[in-house]
Amino acid sequence: MAKKDYYETLGVDKNASEADIKSAFRKKAKKYHPDVNKDPGAADKFKEIGEAYSVLGDEAKRKQYDQFGSAAFDNNAGGGFGGGFSGGFSGFDFDDLDLGSIFEQFMGGGFTSRNKGSKRKTKGEDFLVKIDLTFEEAIFGTEKSFNISIEEECSDCHGEGGHNPETCSHCGGRGRVITEQRTILGVIQTETTCPYCKGAGQQFKNICSTCRGKGKLKKNKDIKFRVPSGVEDGDQMRLAGKGSAGTNGGPNGDIYINFKVKDHVIFKRDGKDIYLVVPLTITEATLGCTKEIPTIYGNEKFVFKAGTQNNENIKIRGKGIESEKNRSTGDMYLITNIIIPTKLDRKQKSLLKDLDATNLTNESAFKNFNKYL
Ligand SMILES: [Zn+2]
Ligand SMILES: [Zn+2]
Repeated sequence: MAKKDYYETLGVDKNASEADIKSAFRKKAKKYHPDVNKDPGAADKFKEIGEAYSVLGDEAKRKQYDQFGSAAFDNNAGGGFGGGFSGGFSGFDFDDLDLGSIFEQFMGGGFTSRNKGSKRKTKGEDFLVKIDLTFEEAIFGTEKSFNISIEEECSDCHGEGGHNPETCSHCGGRGRVITEQRTILGVIQTETTCPYCKGAGQQFKNICSTCRGKGKLKKNKDIKFRVPSGVEDGDQMRLAGKGSAGTNGGPNGDIYINFKVKDHVIFKRDGKDIYLVVPLTITEATLGCTKEIPTIYGNEKFVFKAGTQNNENIKIRGKGIESEKNRSTGDMYLITNIIIPTKLDRKQKSLLKDLDATNLTNESAFKNFNKYL
């Protein structure tokens, strides 16, 4: 059985004080805790450290160790000191216990939830607000407002929660208290956050009556903001610092705006570009025409050339969205939709029959097709 040097394991001198041993243990345990240290040997090292501290951290066990060495604490020590600790460390297997919980016992919660309850700066609460926009509001931008209930810093106590602070008599201003606990590893001194001052080290003589000590007050606020042009459905925008007040001087939370943009009956969008399907009669398409079309900036006259085909995609440069979001202007696309008439009167039918009698199949589209007839 290899002799273990617990002093070496913790990296302390044989004459180290109780405080030195505790502090060395904390440092080493933090360094090798398997949640933090992913080296393959870290878990074993962590166990060794725990074992060393369970002995050296206990005055009686340390004396026995100094006298008899680590054999006194080993499972298979073969008599000698076997039952000396009434089931203390001997026979105990670290693998049977969650390492995290062992650590909690040693550290009194100081490791995994550091600063719990102390005067830590924390950011205020964030909010998510859904805002409906019409198609036009989204493309041109607009002003919007909404009402929200947020926490603001109490002006009577400036967020402190009280007046006339005094040193906490329970912990003497340390914010932490030491309790002794009997555990499987023996008696362990546990340091925890002072329950009276919640770690602050101070208590108020007078709790603020306005906010009942919370330091914050719920308030309904009307928040106005500008929607930039070019916003799209599902876009998110942050109103920085408009959320609830932070704690202990922490920053305010934010409000996130989520936009829901309504569709338009005839205009479609793709980012900053606008698409419009334009219905044309067969004669407008065949003969060409000047036709009034709607754009997002108002009606405009547009010339369709003679022989315009169905489903053509005609670009009008610069008639898309002047988008602040994209920092550029989009284009407009006209998609032609030639409507074949379905409700002809007698005169129209007669005119079309006359037209049909002429040669309309002289177009290239018919030529290949006719070859296979
Ligand atoms: Zn206290
Ligand atoms: Zn207050």
